Amino acid sequence: MHLNFCPRCGVPLRWQGKPVHVGPEDLRGRGVWRYQPFLPDVEPVSLGEGGTPLLPAPSKSVGARIFWKLEFLNPTGSFKDRGASVMVSALRAFGAMHVADDSSGNAGAALAAYAAQAGLRAHLFVPAYASGPKVRQIAAYGAELHRVPGPRAAATAAVQRACADNPHLIYASHNSSPYFISGIMTLAFEIAEELGWRSPDHVVVPVGGGGLLLGLFYGFALLAELGWVEKLPKIHAAQAAACAPIVRALAEGLSEPKEVEPGETIAEGARIPKPERGKEIIMALRVVEGSGVMVEEEEIQRAQSELAKQGLYVEPTAALAPAALPKLVAHGTIKPNEVVVIPLTGFGLKTS
Ligand SMILES: *Cc1c(COP(=O)(O)O)cnc(C)c1O
Repeated sequence: MHLNFCPRCGVPLRWQGKPVHVGPEDLRGRGVWRYQPFLPDVEPVSLGEGGTPLLPAPSKSVGARIFWKLEFLNPTGSFKDRGASVMVSALRAFGAMHVADDSSGNAGAALAAYAAQAGLRAHLFVPAYASGPKVRQIAAYGAELHRVPGPRAAATAAVQRACADNPHLIYASHNSSPYFISGIMTLAFEIAEELGWRSPDHVVVPVGGGGLLLGLFYGFALLAELGWVEKLPKIHAAQAAACAPIVRALAEGLSEPKEVEPGETIAEGARIPKPERGKEIIMALRVVEGSGVMVEEEEIQRAQSELAKQGLYVEPTAALAPAALPKLVAHGTIKPNEVVVIPLTGFGLKTS
């Protein structure tokens, strides 16, 4: 069964939130569920996600004040745990027993872990060629792997067919579920709270399906609407030159990204040639006066290794935004003394 799209017009749905009559002083506990007043009213399925450190980067020649948000310290090794925790909690509350997604990466690992904790059966549709630590992690959590021959798109088609045919199999897609994105909003809440209920001047993020970017956007937008922060941060999207539909759409002034023919890239977690929420991503970037930055493979590699030399071991996809940083500074988009937050999205051991 599909719950993520409007049954009439087909657009991906989004969590509108609920009326909030609380102030920051009413927040309790730590991590994602500290922000329960903003989340669906359901019993949490939690593995201790969120509450990740905001670490000041050593001040170097860059000039700006950079903070790394250590999202790779989440329970399964990526920020996707925020989304999976809230999505699985909501789906369990709705009575779901079988959940499905088409990810052989961090979203699949997060769904498998939270489904295991919730007592749900996870079905991951993955390309037959998929292998490596992330697939082993998915299998270790006890998820059922459905190996689909053919290209990546065949796995998506297979999961959609399976969910359409079987009313008991719920499509728990990280890219389209409104509950997944509501969980990512907690990343914005946490950053703002750690900065003393202020928005940073800039946030730089890697963009694949765009859930991370949209969660941050909707999170900061909600806080601004409530008056908990004064302004929205500028958000900048970093993509590998090999697969950069969003950056290209911005450069061409389009309101919806065109599908690209993806090349090979070490930033495997952001290799999405046609993001489902493409229009929404472009809209969000326009509203915050953000920008798009394309980075080359050598730049990703260099950023990854520079982070490791600071003691931060991240996977290549997580190095996209740090790789974009020098360009944003060189172009004058980020100015000296401005506050910049960069989520480090995935752990280095994920791709070793
Ligand atoms: C999924 C993922 C991304 C991209 O996030 P989207 O929400 O798909 O844009 C970036 N880094 C890592 C490590 C990821 O797993």
